[in-house]
Amino acid sequence: MREDTRQWIEGDQARCWHPFTRQAEWCARGHEPLVIVRGEGSWLWDSEGRRYLDGNSSIWTNIHGHAHPVINAAIRAQLEKVAHTSFLGSTHPLAVELAERLCGLFPAGTLERVFFSDDGSTAIECALKMALQYRQQTGAPERNELIAFSNGYHGDTLGAASLGGVSRFSKGVLGNGFPVRHVGSMEELLLLGSEKLAAVVIEPLIQGVNEMRLWPAGMLGELRRWCDETGVHLILDEVMTGFGRTGEMFACQRENVIPDFLCLAKGITGGYLPLAATLVTGEIYDAFLGTADRAFYYGHSYTANPLGCAAALASLEVFEQEQTLARLPEKIARLASGLAALKSSQPLIHEIRQCGFIAGIELRRPDVVKFPPNERFGESVCLTARSYGLLTRPILDTLVIMLPLSSGFEEIDHAIHAVAEALGQ
Ligand SMILES: *Cc1c(COP(=O)(O)O)cnc(C)c1O
Repeated sequence: MREDTRQWIEGDQARCWHPFTRQAEWCARGHEPLVIVRGEGSWLWDSEGRRYLDGNSSIWTNIHGHAHPVINAAIRAQLEKVAHTSFLGSTHPLAVELAERLCGLFPAGTLERVFFSDDGSTAIECALKMALQYRQQTGAPERNELIAFSNGYHGDTLGAASLGGVSRFSKGVLGNGFPVRHVGSMEELLLLGSEKLAAVVIEPLIQGVNEMRLWPAGMLGELRRWCDETGVHLILDEVMTGFGRTGEMFACQRENVIPDFLCLAKGITGGYLPLAATLVTGEIYDAFLGTADRAFYYGHSYTANPLGCAAALASLEVFEQEQTLARLPEKIARLASGLAALKSSQPLIHEIRQCGFIAGIELRRPDVVKFPPNERFGESVCLTARSYGLLTRPILDTLVIMLPLSSGFEEIDHAIHAVAEALGQ
């Protein structure tokens, strides 16, 4: 190991604290975390000069590859002007342009306003708070309950975490958290009385953290119709699915659904900078007009950060220049056929779950029984895949393959090959 690598690792182990990480293991002697020093396209390099395919798009964020010249140039150009100014009491050109572009991705008269924040969790917090405040300001304060789906994931701030249905992420620290009712399916939802409900929140088409489990086809459309009939608002969490991951620009477009609130983050800047947006319909927005006490009391210091907006606008530009969406179907097909071949040759693969360019590979013992959790089998497969040039993380024993949308056939094949080699070991 190079001397500088050793120093970075020691320094990290002495002072840094990583998300969702068992720090005792992380800091143990002999644990050698990768020190990532550079990226280009779908590839990342570590401080030892080794190259890895970014198999989970740097935790589901990257869209057009790393160090993309168009996005880099846009950030640089804005940096020469000003890095950050407040969105509280003033505005700036790129936020205006980005808000127009985002609304322009939906039919006129639907999603018409953009509230900026910093990340997926805050985009969700905004939607929740707006949904509840909306009821107070429209004469229906009794509609103060929120519904979320079991095993869903919506982020880690307290409100977003209370929505989440994956208990290992809150570990009971929240107690009962913020009051949310959880349902497992559309059928269960239909059994609930809707009079007290403000809104229902869902990850459309696919639940990411729930080991990439897909909703039944048609379910989202059915949910929209139910919301229309009951007057319950629909909040879509497209933090993972947004910006092309599912093959459409947004997952909701697959079932021709327009939500009342749309939460976007992760891929919005192409995966470059933290920025998020909560889009709402004109109807929601209008309830916040009028007397001063009707303002939406919420905001963060870096709201609508100009560098983030520059990256987001450049990312939308690249979608057009590179015809990203038009080129996706053949990549999605290549991934599907590669995974099918992999499954037929690998007895440890229980199920492949794919939604557009997102794939989960669930591993089980050949007798279909799950591996004991403390074996951390998925983790050890990912660690082995690293030595074949693939960087990704599992969710329990489900391996995630979520490449940047700009990845080519060779890169798709490389990812599958690395998983095959790792499983072979
Ligand atoms: C990642 C994620 C979030 C949280 O976003 P952060 O930027 O990590 O706060 C929320 N919802 C979904 C579906 C996600 O995948």
